[in-house]
Amino acid sequence: MSAPDFLPGLTGSFAQKAAENPTVDIVEAAYQAAGAHVRYINCEVSPEHLKGAIDGAVAMGWLGFNCSLPHKVAVIEYLDELAASARIIGAVNTVVIDGDRLIGENTDGKGFLQSLLPIVDPTGKRVVMFGAGGAARAIGVETALAGASHITVVNTTASRGQELSDHLAASTPAGSDFVPWDSEYKVPAATDIVINATSIGFGDASAKLQLDTSTLLPHMIVADVITNPPRTALLTAAAANGCTILDGLGMLVNQALVATRLWTGIELDGRVMRDRLEALFGTA
Ligand code: NDP
Repeated sequence: MSAPDFLPGLTGSFAQKAAENPTVDIVEAAYQAAGAHVRYINCEVSPEHLKGAIDGAVAMGWLGFNCSLPHKVAVIEYLDELAASARIIGAVNTVVIDGDRLIGENTDGKGFLQSLLPIVDPTGKRVVMFGAGGAARAIGVETALAGASHITVVNTTASRGQELSDHLAASTPAGSDFVPWDSEYKVPAATDIVINATSIGFGDASAKLQLDTSTLLPHMIVADVITNPPRTALLTAAAANGCTILDGLGMLVNQALVATRLWTGIELDGRVMRDRLEALFGTA
């Protein structure tokens, strides 16, 4: 690929702690591999400086930026336009700077979907999803918009789980129900896709979901959002039962591919990103 000259365009990440953001590593590695004259840097921005940071990014000719908590919702008031799924999700993790227009996108759910699609098209599929936080919301909305027929939200905090389920049923074509997670959950046999969208397993490969793993059947696809370590206890149990498994690295790589495509138009190499993540976190 020839090296497009995007200077002085920069992509930036308004994350809280650089050391906790592997996206910098993988995007920089992929830009370099593509010979793209673009940089991805990490900036720590406090809530009271969010507007100033955005004005600065525009003033400096950045192509766009990612934003993480606590800015994902607060950033919306400074944007000119929201992509359809970002509007339904109600949160933005990627902003594209197009001249003086700021466009908000959410690539988390898109990243999940892109990692799922080579394995299965969610059209008409029944999904069980653990969790009702930011990741679950993004994944639920994108999977529903991609044609899933029904999404069961399973969550400990009932108010949060019910709200997400009601939102999916009202704002997408999918049906949805909520199951309070107050005992060992048994996955219904008619389920096609099981997703852990909680933070259980982050930093602890032995952490288990309150789940009867004997109900994970070979026809099911079992996905986990956890990146570190990628081989979670859930995926280990699912693989042992003959399920097809999908780790969180795929989602992370694909959300970065979606964001960098939006900013630069360049198709980066996902394998370079995945290799980098496997070097950092291991394989699933
Ligand atoms: P949130 O804090 O918004 O939500 C966390 C969710 O996990 C809630 O539903 C919470 O339940 C549930 N949860 C946490 N601990 C437990 C527990 N011990 N038992 C039962 N439920 C629990 O986090 P996010 O949604 O932003 O992130 C979730 C995970 O997704 C993180 O680990 C993050 O790293 C990962 N992630 C991965 C991405 C990728 O690219 N692979 C992208 C984005 C996120 P409750 O509502 O009851 O509190």
